[in-house]
Amino acid sequence: MNIPLLEVENLHVKYGNIEALHGISFTVGQGEIVTLIGANGAGKSTTLMAVAQLPPPEAPKIISGDIRFAGQSILGMAPDRVVADLHLVLVPEGRHIFGNLTVEENLKLATYARKGDVNDINRDYKRVYQLFPRLNERKKQRSESLSGGEQQMLAVGRALMSGCKFIMLDEPSMGLAPLLMYDMFRTLKELNEEGMTILLIEQNAHLALKFAHRGYVIDTGEIVAHGPCATLMENPEVKKAYLGG
Ligand code: ATP
Repeated sequence: MNIPLLEVENLHVKYGNIEALHGISFTVGQGEIVTLIGANGAGKSTTLMAVAQLPPPEAPKIISGDIRFAGQSILGMAPDRVVADLHLVLVPEGRHIFGNLTVEENLKLATYARKGDVNDINRDYKRVYQLFPRLNERKKQRSESLSGGEQQMLAVGRALMSGCKFIMLDEPSMGLAPLLMYDMFRTLKELNEEGMTILLIEQNAHLALKFAHRGYVIDTGEIVAHGPCATLMENPEVKKAYLGG
């Protein structure tokens, strides 16, 4: 039997004394695009931060359950090892780029823990600039002066420069004008076709369900529905709550 690449099993997490996830379980297979949809505050970002093994207080404390990657529990793994050893990267909401560094410097910094040889790194620089020509044009520009869309491209570019094979995206369409949003999703699809596994959180449930293969609906810290996206889009409750009726 094929083991899913990522398995989250009965995950309970807390912020202080407040439980934010009440037993979340889901899987992501190698090469799949899976989306988590849900209302504000449902627990989507919390889930991604737990998978990335980010520490409290910004991220939640894991109380019970398991997170396995390629069959091995990763609970307690240092977050930089998750990136360097598992090639699993979270692109958080708000992007977290270094505003006072240039585009080029931000990309370079992302390679620091990477073990690949210099040819792999150079190949990935080329790939990032090819996927996002705007970043190429703005190489020497300080990142804080980029537009919101360009910063989002840089955040994805940094994930690629870290050698990422599994990308977790928290609201990649946030603040993007429609054309840039479709460009971003086209680029993500291209990356997926080259083998990148994607776990996506997206406020725009319609867009997310069109883009992904499978989806999970989170409501106040619990999974309330899941399945292939085509099936979820026909689910009357999903339609009513998340797709505008
Ligand atoms: P959104 O789409 O609004 O980002 P979300 O589904 O990603 O929502 P989370 O950000 O995961 O939701 O939040 C889940 C719950 O945990 C919410 O009730 C939120 O208020 C709470 N929460 C999130 N971060 C913290 C924190 N650092 N400290 C305390 N509570 C938090």
